[in-house]
Amino acid sequence: RKSSPAQTEFYQAVEEILESLAPLLEKNPKYRQHSIIERMLEPERQLMFRVTWVDDDGKVQVNKGYRIEFNSALGPYKGGLRFHPSVNASIVKFLGFEQIFKNALTGLPIGGGKGGANFDPKGKSDGEIMRFCQAFMTELYRHIGPNTDVPAGDIGVGTREIGYMFGQYKRIVNRFDGVLTGKSTLWGGSALRVEATGYGCVYFAQHMLEDADDTLEDKKCLVSGSGNVAIYTMEKLYELGAKPIACSDSSGTLYHQAGIDLDLIKEIKQVRSGRLREYLETHDDAEYTASDDYPEDGQQIWRYSADLAFPCATQNELNEQDAQCLLENGVKAVIEGANMPCTNKAIDLLLEQQVLFGPAKAANAGGVATSQLEMAQNSSMTRWSREEVDEKLKDIMQRIYQDAKRTAEEFDAPKNLALGANIAGFRRVADAMIAQGVV
Ligand code: NDP
Repeated sequence: RKSSPAQTEFYQAVEEILESLAPLLEKNPKYRQHSIIERMLEPERQLMFRVTWVDDDGKVQVNKGYRIEFNSALGPYKGGLRFHPSVNASIVKFLGFEQIFKNALTGLPIGGGKGGANFDPKGKSDGEIMRFCQAFMTELYRHIGPNTDVPAGDIGVGTREIGYMFGQYKRIVNRFDGVLTGKSTLWGGSALRVEATGYGCVYFAQHMLEDADDTLEDKKCLVSGSGNVAIYTMEKLYELGAKPIACSDSSGTLYHQAGIDLDLIKEIKQVRSGRLREYLETHDDAEYTASDDYPEDGQQIWRYSADLAFPCATQNELNEQDAQCLLENGVKAVIEGANMPCTNKAIDLLLEQQVLFGPAKAANAGGVATSQLEMAQNSSMTRWSREEVDEKLKDIMQRIYQDAKRTAEEFDAPKNLALGANIAGFRRVADAMIAQGVV
């Protein structure tokens, strides 16, 4: 902390992992002997670069671009790109660090990386988005490759942005490489990649509930966000008999006791790029709370009564007070769709009170796992059907769940999937690092 202050989110992620690794380090001194923790905390490579582009008024704009290549012990660096004004070195670093363990947990050959820019896509024209993506790739292309580093999407980066970046990469290197995942299914993308994180998260919740002799049937759910992860979490919840009753965006929270009208959410967010409050134009029985009117100590969405909570928007969106409200309202399980959405205090409280807790590293790993399936399809020049990918996704989510559960039991913390996921992911990476020598 002394040598690198101001990395709040990164330290938060490290603290959460290190605390749960204590029993493993005690049992296995080899990890200390090989200075694995010290080596893992230091990224293999961290890139920062200028992104210069021209807006619709002809004005030159400058943004900061980032790519962190954190750990390649298990395979090429893999992790998304985030375009959001809040992106900074600490956020990219925490996301990259978490990604190492998440990718290891999938059991697939992928290392950990992450990247992005402090670019705000809101209110930008299609031409501006394209020029930004091209400028971003004009620097990034020299650092990535299908066997080196394979970025994907994240907040603010979807199929359109991946398309523009891919086009620029191809123009520069003159090769049709599987260098990005999340591509359109029309040209190299995998079936179900768009849905995978949300669907995977619900498959994970299904396993958690099954082990508690329960099901998703008729469960009332709070799902924060209304982007990629939130929308497909809600879609799968409906498919499996549950009922999402609230969702949100960065401007406010929507509550609809009758059940969120998902087609309308897709129309507002995916087609019109609109705001959630537009939902009230057709549903006057729904309630909308603007973010200015949120409770001072937390987020509105966690103040509603529900059986299950799926934080699917962004980091630190569910704090201790939010967790307390969920508990008072009888929540049964909290499953993280976003990365690090719960603060460490919120997680401690939920675990203390025996609420089922699905940690992000495990619960939202379906997205990156399907990205790896996209890489596999690209390198073998094949295409799998939606059904085939879905079967593989289900299988991967089940393995991740079992792995986290078994590891938690091995370390006398049954049901603590956060501890189980951290240890299982860490062990896989650490053993590979030891086997590869001091590099
Ligand atoms: P999107 O950009 O598609 O959606 C993000 C959603 O969260 C939007 O509804 C956005 O609101 C809302 N949001 C963003 N920032 C804030 C904020 N500060 N306060 C309140 N709401 C906010 O991103 P994704 O759905 O892809 O990503 C969501 C989370 O899931 C992130 O943590 C991401 O890292 C994680 N994740 C994503 C994966 C993927 O495959 N996409 C894979 C694994 C994890 P608005 O519409 O107003 O911007």
